[in-house]
Amino acid sequence: MTVSVNRELCYGSGECAFRVPSVFTAVDGLGAVVPGREDADGDPEVREAAERCPSQAIALG
Ligand code: SF4
Repeated sequence: MTVSVNRELCYGSGECAFRVPSVFTAVDGLGAVVPGREDADGDPEVREAAERCPSQAIALG
């Protein structure tokens, strides 16, 4: 199980990095997973960030 950001769907709102900066960051203006944190999909905050992503770009599992 992993967490990932689909950069084709993301439009760079920055909400994921704002909510969970330990797991999400921005790369070239788009959301990205902090290297080494791809296994954080079980974190409730990560799940909430995925649910609240306005473009549903965050995939879990
Ligand atoms: S919350 Fe969604 S749209 Fe916004 S930066 Fe993160 S992945 Fe992209």
